[in-house]
Amino acid sequence: MRTDFVRALERAANLEELSRDELAVLISADEEESAALFDCADMMRSRFMGDEVHLRGIIEFSNICSSNCYYCGLRKGNTALKRYRMSKAEILESARKAAVLGCRTIVLQSGEDRSYPAGLLAEIVAEIKSELDVAITLSVGERPREDYALWREAGADRYLLKHETCDGKLFSELRPGTVLEERLQRLAWLRELGYQVGSGNMVGLPGQTVETLAGDIVLMREMEVEMAGIGPFVPNRQTPLGSCPGGTLELTLKTLAAARLALPRTHLPATTATATIDALGRVKALRCGANVIMPNMTPLKYRASYSIYPGKTGLEDTPEESYAKAVRMVESAGRKVGTGYGHSLRHLEKKAEAQAQAV
Ligand code: SAH
Ligand code: SF4
Repeated sequence: MRTDFVRALERAANLEELSRDELAVLISADEEESAALFDCADMMRSRFMGDEVHLRGIIEFSNICSSNCYYCGLRKGNTALKRYRMSKAEILESARKAAVLGCRTIVLQSGEDRSYPAGLLAEIVAEIKSELDVAITLSVGERPREDYALWREAGADRYLLKHETCDGKLFSELRPGTVLEERLQRLAWLRELGYQVGSGNMVGLPGQTVETLAGDIVLMREMEVEMAGIGPFVPNRQTPLGSCPGGTLELTLKTLAAARLALPRTHLPATTATATIDALGRVKALRCGANVIMPNMTPLKYRASYSIYPGKTGLEDTPEESYAKAVRMVESAGRKVGTGYGHSLRHLEKKAEAQAQAV
């Protein structure tokens, strides 16, 4: 093993803050080094996050999108896609089903549908929160600050807005008309509004290097994100990046493991995109630092139309089957299903502090 690799890994295990260069050394691990990196990440996950894996049920409630990201099949330029928006009643029904199955978090995700009324989403959030004992994560893209404030008041707990890549030039090339600074500004607003904030990046984007991936992790450490979604870029033929090579499982797992070392207390999902490039991808991710799985609770009739990337796993699974599969993955990794909401550790500490002050 390279001496700088061994040194970086030792420093990480001692909880010292790794530089971007050191993270790049970890991410460029060869096969033998990878085994050591994965073991260290698994140990760190066990030490800080325990053995529980949180199952967050995701409802993909609309595939309508006003944006034109080069990587994504929901981009407005993809005219081949049949568009849908679930009704409020359908969303509530899916949320009930997810809660009955055992999900303690409901993730409401959609394309960046700018004409979706903010008030309607606020009503949906408020009704789910009053009826069901669940936390709510929203993931509906870039919206005005007032909308984020409205949804927070309605009871949303968390917001997931991946920064996608820390390379500002690449960001603007891949997301025409948008800039990284504004994405980061939104993440700062979400934090100010009291959300638990999730970000993340894709692995294997064209033009990205190992240094970029190390920079993604440093950025998320600086932002103190509570969740980091790290998954491979999967090329979609119906997009301008259709003929680019995608991210590999190896590079995704190495980035995930390095993220666990740099962000020991952050929730890291074993992403659906990882399962798409390798049938055992999510179980492997659980062994490299991940501690969250997001079973799909979208009604079957809409699944195929939420085609961000092709070959998405579980297109034919009912919500019940998606949940049962997630449980089996957790068990096969020798772990147990989380019983709480899976809030961030920082959120729990803040709550305990407030309670102590109130006594
Ligand atoms: N519209 C919202 C949420 C839905 S997209 C948003 O953009 O934030 C959710 C995530 O899908 C994005 O953050 C992106 O990281 C991921 N994604 C998009 N296209 C992808 C692709 N081709 N391969 C892998 N992940 C992709
Ligand atoms: Fe729309 Fe999100 Fe896909 Fe971009 S990544 S095209 S904003 S759904």
